[in-house]
Amino acid sequence: MTPEYRVDAEQRIESYLFGQDIKDIKFIQVEQTFTDMGGEIHVWNVKTRVDGSWWVVEGEGVPMNLYTQNEFYFSADEAYSFHLGISQRLRARHHLEFKHIIDELPLDIDHVKSISRRLNSAAVALNDVSAPEDLQAIGLTCRESLIELAGVLANGNPNLLEEKGLKAADFKGVAREVIAIYAPGKSNGKLRKRSRDIMEAAWDHSSEIVHSPNKNIPDAKICLLLTCSAVSLIQNLFLKFLGFDNEPKCSVCKSMDFDILVLEGNDEALFNCNSCGNQEPLS
Ligand SMILES: [Zn+2]
Repeated sequence: MTPEYRVDAEQRIESYLFGQDIKDIKFIQVEQTFTDMGGEIHVWNVKTRVDGSWWVVEGEGVPMNLYTQNEFYFSADEAYSFHLGISQRLRARHHLEFKHIIDELPLDIDHVKSISRRLNSAAVALNDVSAPEDLQAIGLTCRESLIELAGVLANGNPNLLEEKGLKAADFKGVAREVIAIYAPGKSNGKLRKRSRDIMEAAWDHSSEIVHSPNKNIPDAKICLLLTCSAVSLIQNLFLKFLGFDNEPKCSVCKSMDFDILVLEGNDEALFNCNSCGNQEPLS
């Protein structure tokens, strides 16, 4: 990166963040530069005084976007991977309205994130409670959040309840079936089992907290931790299902460096490998 590029990029990032109501930057630095897609893509580490910490991804051939460092993207690498998946999708969709998995299995990911955020703030608030009823209330918040999550999942998969004979409030049942959808196949067997265990733990533990007057603050914190984990896990299973496992790859050389070509007079899009020159229909 040249000094000129750096100055220019910092200005673009600052005005981009300003447009998102993120101000008062106290630290901005390139965390990592990736070149595996051909051009240079930079992940910037941006810290502000009051508006949190962010990863900003920008570079050759990709739109600028930002990702919070708080809950969901722990590393520059994660932000980059996610950004790449989204950018490729946008580019592909721009070229061709192909039937995308996100249209078949929509999930209100913002709603899931907001459940997760609310639980995280409850975990912070927990440092100020005293009475046993407050702890039972935490258990109740967890249970309600899980039921709300089940509702979001059922909305995203409208045939699920009917097909499986489930009630919308049956968190464990709905979660089990959704895990089977988002983590399909033999290779995900262990992941499914672990995910189901987390869902059960979150549900069973929150029920215990609700019904027992003899719990202490750590019990309630564990309850929140398990519930937060369950919500985040569902979110990440969905993202995994959407993205990283299904990235287009060249069938000849496995390269992910490609362009999508749409030939005139032809509805079919072509995957054009930039590494070996192989062309094949995009399925
Ligand atoms: Zn190739």
